[in-house]
Amino acid sequence: MNLIDGKKIAAELRNELKVEVDEIKKKFKKVPGLTVILIGDLTPSQIYVRNKEKSAKEIGLKSEIIKYPEDIQEISVLNKIDELNKDETVSGILVQLPLPDHIDKQKIIERINPDKDVDGFHPYNVGNLSSGYESSVPCTPLGCYLLIKRTEPNLSGKKAIVIGRSNLNGKPMAQLLLKENCTVTITHSKTKDLKNECLKGDIVIAAVGIPELVKADWIKKDAIVIDVGINKTDKGIVGDVAFEEVSKVAKALTPVPGGVGPMTIACLLKNTIECFKRSLK
Ligand code: NAP
Repeated sequence: MNLIDGKKIAAELRNELKVEVDEIKKKFKKVPGLTVILIGDLTPSQIYVRNKEKSAKEIGLKSEIIKYPEDIQEISVLNKIDELNKDETVSGILVQLPLPDHIDKQKIIERINPDKDVDGFHPYNVGNLSSGYESSVPCTPLGCYLLIKRTEPNLSGKKAIVIGRSNLNGKPMAQLLLKENCTVTITHSKTKDLKNECLKGDIVIAAVGIPELVKADWIKKDAIVIDVGINKTDKGIVGDVAFEEVSKVAKALTPVPGGVGPMTIACLLKNTIECFKRSLK
């Protein structure tokens, strides 16, 4: 079995992006910038945002965090987004989710200029992705896609099974694979006989949130298996795939941690640079 080392591949991607940022600075005398809005003091969100800022700075991007208290009014956030939309030094805007209950997530997402939407959540980008046009793509599925392509460059005609249909993971993942001419099945909690659906997959992507749901006898021999899940259990963080047993059947498999996770932030940096390049057009 080929262990797909997301940590190593993400480091390579960040190095490539650093070179690209250096070239942009030389050529355009500008620095692509990422601005993250963080509302409230949820610890996981604070850690994610800090990691995003650190990674952005490491590759030479301008990085800024705007922090608001939990009880900030929605209108104040919308006004800030309007300001950032107009600010030429800001290439990408990200509002860290989840948001407090009194703030309408969709209203916030839709206020961000789609050309600065580094998360790829704006309906304009969602529509473009599903139409097969150029768009920002959500960072986690983009990371999974890059890992799959490194393992198997020609995906045409492959049967892909996506477990989970969230807007964050499952749906954009399916669109990316469809664009690569895979035959894609999206499964979810109401899918009948999930095991047999998975057994048809040359590629299986699990984005569910149930520890070790996917077992070895769900996986066709020599399939590529990508584990998006991050689940806290008594034995530590585990994915949605039973790693030990599936590793005996799969051709290639991502570990958790150290698989998809590191690619997510690297893809956020990639999206920021893509947004900057789009601003030049
Ligand atoms: P989500 O919004 O909760 O969606 C989960 C999906 O799984 C839903 O579509 C749900 O079906 C489906 N599902 C639930 N139980 C199922 C079952 N028994 N059989 C088949 N499908 C089932 O979750 P998400 O945001 O996509 O995240 C999924 C996992 O990825 C979580 O563990 C999360 O922590 C992790 N994650 C990792 C990263 C990373 O960087 N690695 C980033 C984001 C998320 P229904 O639609 O029918 O409810």
